[in-house]
Amino acid sequence: MDLQSGKLYWPTTVVNPPSYPRLEADISCDVLIIGAGSSGAQCANILCDQGLSVVVVDKRKAGEGSTSSNTALIQYAGEKSFVSLSHSFGEEVAARHLKLCEQSINDIERVSRQLPIDPDFIRRDSLYYASRKEDVPELDEEYALLRKHGFNVDRWDARQIADRYPFQKEAALYYHDDAEMNPLKFVYGLLERVKSRGGSIYENTEITGKRFEQDYALFFTKERHEIRARHVIIAAGYEDSDFKVEKNATLASSYAVITKPIADFASWHKRTLIWETARPYVYMRTTPDNRVIIGGMDKDTSYAGTRDSKILASKDKLVQAFNALFPDIQAEPEYYLGAFYGGTHDGLPVIGQYEAYPHCYVIMAYGDNGTVYNGVLAKVVSDMIVTGSSPDLKIYLQSRPLVAT
Ligand SMILES: Cc1cc2nc3c(=O)[nH]c(=O)nc-3n(C[C@H](O)[C@H](O)[C@H](O)COP(=O)(O)OP(=O)(O)OC[C@H]3O[C@@H](n4cnc5c(N)ncnc54)[C@H](O)[C@@H]3O)c2cc1C
Repeated sequence: MDLQSGKLYWPTTVVNPPSYPRLEADISCDVLIIGAGSSGAQCANILCDQGLSVVVVDKRKAGEGSTSSNTALIQYAGEKSFVSLSHSFGEEVAARHLKLCEQSINDIERVSRQLPIDPDFIRRDSLYYASRKEDVPELDEEYALLRKHGFNVDRWDARQIADRYPFQKEAALYYHDDAEMNPLKFVYGLLERVKSRGGSIYENTEITGKRFEQDYALFFTKERHEIRARHVIIAAGYEDSDFKVEKNATLASSYAVITKPIADFASWHKRTLIWETARPYVYMRTTPDNRVIIGGMDKDTSYAGTRDSKILASKDKLVQAFNALFPDIQAEPEYYLGAFYGGTHDGLPVIGQYEAYPHCYVIMAYGDNGTVYNGVLAKVVSDMIVTGSSPDLKIYLQSRPLVAT
């Protein structure tokens, strides 16, 4: 799949990226992980710490899948609101999901401090503003539910917003303790830690075949080498569909611009992450080298040609949207991209367990908080592999009920 096009920013932030060999022999392991992106790397890190022998393979260079275009706003609140998730799955399940996401952010922070490559994890608050006056009642309902479940969020009125930002909005939710990071350094750091703890990583190693036996699975590479594993995690990102098509999954296109460094962020309260109630939304964050990342303008297309034909126009529209909020900041684009972007119809990420794929878990961390969902799903799947159970598997299994129980 042609995952993304344009001029990517994250690869320019790493001077000597780690590299790994191609698989040149038949091997066996406890756990085979297909995909060396943020999903696969987080799984590998947890499982190595549990003393299992772990092999990670990727058909590209590590981190060169969607992880390279991830704008990496690290948040627990997603595109589908808490209220809306509660309508679909019941309040208890929706609350548990958000708590798991909150925990995943804490875990990402803790792990980030242990990595040999610093992923620039920085705690940031988030401003989620009402794009239109009519969105305020929904925002208030969301606020009430979040507070009921103890989330650290405030509700700001027009005065409080105007006191802190150069734009006028009727109301906003102000989330404390979200974060930003460099997703590519995160993956490199995780993989280097995995390697130092005995895990094996192979790049340019494509999985093209499989066979299942009673107690193990055999996966075959394009070069016809065989990997025998007791458990397999398919963490192939949006290319999971090459293995198993999941009917709950959706594919669209998204866009992002990364500006040249900006001299002064005085008007940007605490360099918060910013997003809005409009759908599709525009969102923004800053980077440690003082750039602005502006993203969104999602389009409902899964054709690479159509996606790419809109990159330049989307770049201009994203900059315009930024200038409408921050007319005092001169935003000059330096990097820009269009990329496929996965979601689910029901708003929750998915762990696929299929009869046709014994010994396998398919991780579909689809949605706007993909990095955080990766962390949640990696923990659930690792618990399944290590202990044989996880109380949270039922929330994410593809067979979960679609109506509140
Ligand atoms: C424009 C954009 C902005 C985003 N912004 C955010 C954000 O702000 N916050 C957030 O949390 N998330 C965001 N996301 C989502 C986030 O990027 C993804 O959830 C995450 O990077 C996915 O990681 P992954 O490991 O699942 O997939 P990938 O990074 O794509 O990794 C999967 C890997 O599997 C490999 N692979 C596939 N098939 C095979 C095979 N047959 N054999 C061997 N290897 C294979 C691929 O080469 C790839 O490297 C964004 C995504 C996009 C596109």
